[in-house]
Formats: sequence, C-alpha cells, structure tokens
Amino acid sequence: MAAAGTIAKGQEAFPLRSFFRIPTERCAHSLGEILLRTLITGGAGFIGSHLCERFLAEGHDVIALDNFITGNRDNVEHLMSHPKFRVMVHDISEPIEFHELIDNVLHFASPASPVDYLEFPIQTMKVGALGTHVSLGIAKKHKARYLLASTSEVYGDPLVHPQTEAYWGNVNPIGMRGVYDEAKRYAEALTLAYYRQHKLDAHIIRIFNTYGERMQLNDGRVVPNFIYQALRGDPMTIYGDGSQTRSFCYVTDLVEGIYRLLFTDFHEPVNLGNPAEVTIKEFAEEIHKLAHSKSVYIAKPLPLDDPKKRKPDISRAIQVLGWEPKVGREEGLRRTMAYFQQKMQKTGKL
Ligand code: UDP
Repeated sequence: MAAAGTIAKGQEAFPLRSFFRIPTERCAHSLGEILLRTLITGGAGFIGSHLCERFLAEGHDVIALDNFITGNRDNVEHLMSHPKFRVMVHDISEPIEFHELIDNVLHFASPASPVDYLEFPIQTMKVGALGTHVSLGIAKKHKARYLLASTSEVYGDPLVHPQTEAYWGNVNPIGMRGVYDEAKRYAEALTLAYYRQHKLDAHIIRIFNTYGERMQLNDGRVVPNFIYQALRGDPMTIYGDGSQTRSFCYVTDLVEGIYRLLFTDFHEPVNLGNPAEVTIKEFAEEIHKLAHSKSVYIAKPLPLDDPKKRKPDISRAIQVLGWEPKVGREEGLRRTMAYFQQKMQKTGKL
C-alpha cells in the first residue's frame, strides 16, 4: 500500500480514469514510491495557491513560481514550512531553466480580475503570450504534462447560451478586456500547436467565475467587493441594472476538475465552472442576507464590454472527467465570507 497522498508503482492516481498511466521512465524520483514534481506558475495567486495545497496533499514536490504583481505571499505562508514546497520569485514571461526534472507544468500566472488586467495590460498580454511560450518550452524539455488555465473570457460577450466549448466567441480585440481575452485565445492556440507539432501532453481548461478563500480583498471582482461592502455596511455597488448574469464556482470544485483533467488523454479545451446561474442583483441580495447586512444598493455604470450572460455548459467535463461541482453557492459564500471577515478584522477594516 502506498502512504496516503503518494502513488505506488502501478497504482492509479485517479481510479476513475482507466487509461491513466504514470510514465515511470520520466518521473522526478523513482525510489520505491513514485513522487512527482509539479511546477505551478502563478502559484501564489488565488487559484494557484489552492493548487499548491492540493498537489502537496497528493504527495508531489511543488514549485510555485510567481512575480507577485497580483499574487500574494500571504496565500502561501502556511505552506512555507512544508518540506516539499518551494516558492521562486520569477516572471514566467522571461526564460528560466530547471535542472531538476519536472513532471507537470500548470500555467496559472496572469492578472485575472478586470481591475487587475486594466492596471497591467501589457503584463497581461505578455504572460498570456510569452509566459505561455516559456512554460510550454519547460514542459517540452521535461516531457511533462501541461495544463493551461484559460478562461470563459475567450467567449467574450457570448451570443450562445450556455457556452459550449464548440462556440468560437464574441470578443472585442481592442476593448479594455481585449488584453486578457486575446492573450488567452493566443495561449490556447499555442498550447494546441505544441500538442499537435511536438505531441506535448497538453490540456486546456476554460475557467468560469470562481470564488473562495484567498481572493484579494481589493481585486475589484464582484465577490470580494460585495462581501467587503456587506460586512462593513457600505453601499453595495451594482454595475448597470444588475440583470447581467454569472455562474459562480467554489474554488475546491475547480481544483478537483483541474486535477482530474491533468491525468487524462483529453487535449481539447474543457469548461470548468458551476452552471448555477444568477443575476448580479440576486447575487448581491444573497450576500446581503448571509452577512445580515445593513448596506444599501447603489447603481454604478456598467463597465465596457461587460458580458451580459455567462453560464458554462459542462457536459464535456461530466463526460470526460466524471466531474460536477459539489459546493453550493450558500455554503461556498459562507466559507468565503468567514475568510474575509477574519482578514478584515486582522487588518482593521472591520
Ligand atoms: N459587478 C458589480 N459590482 C461590483 C463588481 C462587479 O455589479 O462591485 C458586476 C460586473 O459588472 C460583472 C459581474 O459583477 O457583471 C462580475 O464581475 P467580475 O469583475 O467579478 O468578473 P467578470 O465576470 O466580469 O469577469
């Protein structure tokens, strides 16, 4: 028997996938037990830090790479004493070489909130283009599995609802969101080119709105904004008339989908998100109620190119991964709110 969190030789890491195999000839270590080394770009970010936790729990050596323009040391502080965890300060848009073997590369580095990619438009384009190229190069050199974090933003302001992976999208390339959307579309094209030309074991996920602990309080996204405002009793800012919709996925559900996809033979993009759709107005009311808030609602202008509707069609994820989100919005919001409450108390914001 393998110890919990490790993979014994010949044992499947993920029993649901019968075609899963561990190519022992290229594992980082092979001393009785197979240990894998996983590189996570953007490892100190919101989703990246949850991935670090998950891969450590599975027994991997984890290298978190981050340039900290939107990542935060606090997100990985609790992992720093773990013997298999390492943080490297590096911008993945610049070349880097690893001398130890790498088994998996997960490319999650990028500003990811509209406020952040408006503040860092060029870095956003560079990490989607050059950063994807560098990380693919590392995976190719090490014959590693590769997973690209793409986004529902590749669908732009979608004219198809819900969005299936077959939809090509409705993106304004020169709008304010274009830097993120087009960088991710390029990143997908490049990843598939590496799969087709170099036979790289590459995978692509399209992440729909995800929330949970370790989102940044000031990243401008709707979840931190509403929770912050509701807890403080500040006015809750509803952009436009609040009739636009989103579908919110709790972070541990997303991480499970990512983990499963990495070990499949499936190479086309897979939507990962929670299909439970809600209007932004209703969402504000849910948070208001959970926080027992005294906040009023105020209308603010709708940002340019703000998608009117967004909901993933997750048929492909169900079929390929046997995956569906498990954490409902109420439960996920309670956990997230408890995190923000603590953080705000610590920093004197509450
Ligand atoms: N939004 C809002 N109030 C806020 C922040 C966001 O009404 O304080 C809206 C925003 O216009 C969008 C939705 O909430 O329609 C989700 O915004 P977010 O920035 O979280 O991400 P997006 O899904 O637009 O990328």
